[in-house]
Amino acid sequence: MPEGDTIRRLAEKITARFAGQRCVRSVTRDPRLTNVDFTGAVLTGADAVGKHLLIRFDDGRTLQAHLRLTGSFVVGPAATEPAWRRRVELWMEDGRLTGVDVPVLGMVATADEEQIVGHLGPDLCGLEPPDLDEVTARLQREPDVPLAGALLDQRNVAGFGNLYAIELPFIVGVSPNQPVGSVDGLGGLVAFGTALIRINAARGPQNTTGRRLRVADHWIYARRGRPCPLCGTRLDGWDNRDSPWQRLSTWCPACQPLEARRTVDVERAHRLLALHPARKEPTYPSFTSRRPAGPRTSGRP
Ligand SMILES: [Zn+2]
Repeated sequence: MPEGDTIRRLAEKITARFAGQRCVRSVTRDPRLTNVDFTGAVLTGADAVGKHLLIRFDDGRTLQAHLRLTGSFVVGPAATEPAWRRRVELWMEDGRLTGVDVPVLGMVATADEEQIVGHLGPDLCGLEPPDLDEVTARLQREPDVPLAGALLDQRNVAGFGNLYAIELPFIVGVSPNQPVGSVDGLGGLVAFGTALIRINAARGPQNTTGRRLRVADHWIYARRGRPCPLCGTRLDGWDNRDSPWQRLSTWCPACQPLEARRTVDVERAHRLLALHPARKEPTYPSFTSRRPAGPRTSGRP
């Protein structure tokens, strides 16, 4: 599923290819874009806010899209999908921009984009890193919500999708079902997660292990029923109808036990991310847990 990092990379690809180019022909096949014609408008750039894609034009209009599970954009060449799946198709001066199977499309005045994205929490993949303390506080607003559900609620923080809602709890050794108010050291998870998604947005591909082999891109995502890569215990999970947050989930019952209170395991996260380039991101937590507290220690994980 496209998450904040994927949408950020898509926005940058659209900007690099088409910014400054005029739309010479415009076809829309989506009822929400009836009578919308971009012909003659110059594409000024694309932006991502959370998982929302905003494509801006010089006449004050923004084409907004959310890809959810199914949508994609073909940037440059003509799309090969049948016409009915090509919801919006723009012939630019040099190449074509096609939205395929995009479930959420709309037109909004650029000045009114807040109507689309104003409700979102801090953006993980914005140009500047989000305020990690604010993200942590927002995640804990409803303490009884399971950790994965809180991470997926875009009003708390914008950009995490289900991949991160499964991988981050595993990396820090906390159950995705753990009520978020009973997670101690949640700021550590936020800091690791922000570093991961930001480095994946900057470099791609979406990877949580730092390993290059495709099979090792993720720790446990989509591996329910298989052995835990760390301890060998059979991975447990929800399917999307059973889980309280209506998305499939996976966890290791041994590494991520559900407890009355559970602490984010910073040492485990450092071990699991030892190969990941995220460790060079500014938000990546320095390993202070074993060092004696000194005057410079912030007290954060
Ligand atoms: Zn395990």
